[in-house]
Amino acid sequence: MSTVKLHDKYFQPYLSKEKIEAATQNLVNQIAADCKDEIPIFIGILNGSFMFVADFVRLYPRACEVSFVKLTSYEGTSSKGIVNQLVGINEDLTGRTVVILEDIIDTGNTLQKIYEIFKDKKVGKLKIATLFFKPDVFKKELHIDYIGLSIPDEFIVGYGLDYNNLGRNINSIYKITTPTMTNIVLFGPPGAGKGTQADVLKDAYNLIHISTGDVFRYNIQNATKLGLLAKSYMDDGNLVPDEVTINMLKAEVEKNTEANGFIFDGFPRTSSQAEALDGFLSEKGETINGMVALEVSEDLLVERLLERGKTSGRSDDQDEEKIRNRFNEYNTKTSILKDYYAKQNKYFGVNGVGSIEEITTRLKVVIDTL
Ligand code: AMP
Repeated sequence: MSTVKLHDKYFQPYLSKEKIEAATQNLVNQIAADCKDEIPIFIGILNGSFMFVADFVRLYPRACEVSFVKLTSYEGTSSKGIVNQLVGINEDLTGRTVVILEDIIDTGNTLQKIYEIFKDKKVGKLKIATLFFKPDVFKKELHIDYIGLSIPDEFIVGYGLDYNNLGRNINSIYKITTPTMTNIVLFGPPGAGKGTQADVLKDAYNLIHISTGDVFRYNIQNATKLGLLAKSYMDDGNLVPDEVTINMLKAEVEKNTEANGFIFDGFPRTSSQAEALDGFLSEKGETINGMVALEVSEDLLVERLLERGKTSGRSDDQDEEKIRNRFNEYNTKTSILKDYYAKQNKYFGVNGVGSIEEITTRLKVVIDTL
């Protein structure tokens, strides 16, 4: 089971279906024992309780009635404090045993409203049952008769509970998780200075630097299967196929489970790679904080690369035709990623012309805001 994204937030598995079933069965047993001489009417509080009520009454061993009222108190991830009644109760409850079935009780605002609604209905007995209870945030002096599971104050979704209307259909409980990493895509055409800057930034921010080009070159030097596969593409200045590159990148990330975050240098280079990276990080409850791009004109870069080729030992730096092909790959497949991240308000362009220190300073100004 992995993390799910609902709207802008990430949630990770928290309480299994089995745990929920056991808690529900436990509630059924207690309530059935207490109501053995009567036909109770169970009243579910919508919307959140619909799954719980359905499972509860299926387990209930004797005759019972079921009804619902609809109240609202949530917006986003916190209780608003004001509870509205949207659908009321029509049944005559005079003298009846009413058992309220709540999915969750936290602040107690909804529970207070329930007590108010039922106080003039002349019910015989009013009992409150809740599947989940958050003792740390419960602020009221109100009685709760049956509690399925007490949980810490964490925002949960699933099994009927929602985050802004999403997540109700998940059949177990997930809790909110906040990204803990800083993940930066260092972007720019070949020769823009990504590697040089990544070396400085990784120490400044305590991040792991992953250069896909370096990983490929390392594999070529060591004549690994991956190296042999990548070599023919790299020699001509072509991109290595997505599947190979994506798998390699994932493996590099997985090697560093304790990382504070990553500087991705030379990845993603295609739309598929960008989508794969987003999906992969979101499974971990993480995300890309920003794409920081070094902007340098192409003519200046060809000169720079030819100059670098004299010392770098890279065959793809020594031949103008191969360099032009790398730019062609960049312009046709990679530069569009600017829009991909801009759409998410995550694109930050930085002037890539100047001394190494000047450029580092410009990059840090951006990174410090991420
Ligand atoms: P670089 O060191 O980033 O200039 O990369 C050198 C070469 O490695 C590129 O020209 C590609 O052949 C290959 N390469 C590096 N990163 C990727 C990537 N994300 N996707 C496909 N090929 C890549």
